[in-house]
Amino acid sequence: MVIRAILTDIEGTTSSIRFVKEVLFPYAAQEIPDFLRQRQAQPEVAALIGATATEANLPTADLEGVIEQLLAWIACDRKSTALKAIQGLVWAAGYQDGSYRGHVYADAQQRLQAWHQQGLELYVYSSGSVQAQKLLFGYSDYGDLTPCFQGYFDTTVGPKQARESYEKIAQAIARPAQEILFLSDATAELEGAIAAGYQVCWLVRPEDCNASPDAIRQAPYPTARSFAEINLP
Ligand SMILES: [Mg+2]
Repeated sequence: MVIRAILTDIEGTTSSIRFVKEVLFPYAAQEIPDFLRQRQAQPEVAALIGATATEANLPTADLEGVIEQLLAWIACDRKSTALKAIQGLVWAAGYQDGSYRGHVYADAQQRLQAWHQQGLELYVYSSGSVQAQKLLFGYSDYGDLTPCFQGYFDTTVGPKQARESYEKIAQAIARPAQEILFLSDATAELEGAIAAGYQVCWLVRPEDCNASPDAIRQAPYPTARSFAEINLP
């Protein structure tokens, strides 16, 4: 079956896991206190301070308490919607003022642009929010790559291991699953996509992948150490 659309993961696939872990998350933790102190009067920021206070059972006026709570949640990796939204605002400011650029591997950038020029539809599916995905590709090492992509999906469609998530995405992009190639470094995600009928390729970048050479050799699906090694059936 000919591939018409490509759905790609970000971390460990188009981009290094280290960028998110060692640049984005520490930046948010470092900047959140002053960001909130300086912008607490902005309606969007005020609403998120209020949402955090409610979630933490604190008075909304206790900004320093809210800040302390957010930093504690970051430290214990709590999945808080308010925290995620605040991190999104801080990351947007960091991208816009040039504090960092979205990391994309050179091989991924070259192949994504070539596929786009060949008329393949490109989509992203990542556990980071759609807003965070657009920022990473919009302010990437190679400039604005968002014109390459037709759409973005995050875990609001469902968990990345679940067959149903891939079925929903195939419906949303109006393609038979067999025409979609899913790229990821996580085998549990590939299994979900295969169960939904997708074709897949396992990205085993030496920089990001800690699977054993045997596991890679014996993999029941195609593997690629970079986007240059991905074969389109
Ligand atoms: Mg990944």
